[in-house]
Amino acid sequence: MTDVIAVVPFQYPQAPHARRHGPQGYTDPQRFKPWLRDEFTFRCVYCLSRERWCPDGEDAFSAEHHHPQSLAREEVYSYDNLLYACCRCNAAKRDLTGVLDPVETPLAEHLEVLEDGTIRGLTEDGWDLIGVCQLDRPNLNAFRRGLIEILRALGELNSEAQRQVLRRWFGFPANLPRLSTLRPPDGNSRPAGIVESYYEQRKRGELAEFY
Ligand SMILES: [Zn+2]
Repeated sequence: MTDVIAVVPFQYPQAPHARRHGPQGYTDPQRFKPWLRDEFTFRCVYCLSRERWCPDGEDAFSAEHHHPQSLAREEVYSYDNLLYACCRCNAAKRDLTGVLDPVETPLAEHLEVLEDGTIRGLTEDGWDLIGVCQLDRPNLNAFRRGLIEILRALGELNSEAQRQVLRRWFGFPANLPRLSTLRPPDGNSRPAGIVESYYEQRKRGELAEFY
């Protein structure tokens, strides 16, 4: 069987992110992490790096406070103020405000990754985000280029060996969070999201092989 590979790893979202989950009442941002992993599909909202691409997987990611903790104390434990980001982007953003929010704006309107792995801003805000998170640093450009080359080299999928390579880089992580077993102290404002979580999709045999 031959399949055309339909993975576009560095396409920023073309719509604002609509939250699927709403755990309430945790007083430790770490407890939100399983929800955020699933919410943002196991990748950094800013640089699009995926857990699968990091030797330490989810340990290289953390809950990022869009409105910084230092300025918005009341939002420190608010799920709707949290994003999923790699530790490097999270550290780079620090306590800055006014940075593009993927929940409010489609990042594809502001940022574009080119075929050679470089990135450019399409707006001033896009360039600002590139500057804040250093999304155009040479190491990251080269890493993106390498992954784009893997995809190009694979061409079409016509062997199990190729599928394995593709799954290694573009499949879902093995340790999908089982959100239905979690009990946030003050409940979940969006319980319908559980059914759509990736763990449940896998259980139903509906999980995409690559993304
Ligand atoms: Zn990042």
